[in-house]
Amino acid sequence: MEQLLQVNDLVTQFRTAEGNLSAVRGVSFSVNKGETLCVVGESGCGKSITSLSIMGLLPSNGAITGGSILFNDEELTTKTEDQLRRLRGNQISMIFQEPMTALNPVFTIGYQLREPLMIHRNMTKNEASRKAVELLEEVGIPDPVKKLKQFPHELSGGMRQRVMIAMALACKPSLLIADEPTTALDVTIQAEILDLIDDLKRDMDMGVVFVTHDMGVVAEIADRVMVMYAGEVVEIGNVEDIFNDPQHPYTKGLLASVPNIDEESKTFDAIPGTLPNLNEKIDGCRFHPRCPFATDKCREQSPPAFSVGETHQSKCWLQEVNNNVESANPS
Ligand code: SF4
Ligand code: MG
Repeated sequence: MEQLLQVNDLVTQFRTAEGNLSAVRGVSFSVNKGETLCVVGESGCGKSITSLSIMGLLPSNGAITGGSILFNDEELTTKTEDQLRRLRGNQISMIFQEPMTALNPVFTIGYQLREPLMIHRNMTKNEASRKAVELLEEVGIPDPVKKLKQFPHELSGGMRQRVMIAMALACKPSLLIADEPTTALDVTIQAEILDLIDDLKRDMDMGVVFVTHDMGVVAEIADRVMVMYAGEVVEIGNVEDIFNDPQHPYTKGLLASVPNIDEESKTFDAIPGTLPNLNEKIDGCRFHPRCPFATDKCREQSPPAFSVGETHQSKCWLQEVNNNVESANPS
């Protein structure tokens, strides 16, 4: 499989009154063409900030302060705002949880679908209109010609989410970043949208980074899974590795939990305690205050990422004891 995205040792920080806070602390992963990587963890673990870092859409007090992001072998962290804007909506697209934030309430659906086609693909208005109808059909929207004349508030939540996906796909991006795109939808519509993203991934050979806190969604669409905790990757592997052979105590906790419907509630039943604040100083393993297996070593030294298998890594000292495998990340 051909590699599309390679993130190496990414560090993203926020300037605040209390000093620089690290939201992403040395995250590394890759995404191939035609592959869905699910990024999973509790609210505040750094999964959304990781995706915003890739898109170059960090809030104004945030910045990438370390590492690299290679997209089709091009370094993104050194690109200008202008260059990034050209990539977004053209080669890289993003869909969010709340379509109303991506759709402009004062313009018709048709106008919003035509715009990027006229700008990025030099289409005439007529060509763009025909393409817009095609796109709405592709994402399963009935009566597309009529929908083009409507405003976002005239559509249901599920239909708006489909329109946003149609917009994201308008320029045939090679990478789609989806941040909790189905969280606000009811289960039936959620399943339909997940199927749609999966089909489009196959048809277009797109790479997908799918951010979610819901292990049910992960099971549904992931090829590979990256588990994040407190700004770090604690476990990464193929979907089978993670569900059939989870290694990290945090991953095991996630799998044992029934996640709360409301992402804002930060607790998972099977994992007592909460995610540390960004400004909290934690020595050793960042999960140790919540980990039932924590030893003195865990409280003092941060574990490296140990290889569990060819496709599977876990950032936990237990791995050293259990397998006595070599560190995948010697430092
Ligand atoms: Fe728990 Fe120690 Fe593993 Fe951290 S390194 S997850 S504290 S066992
Ligand atoms: Mg989020």
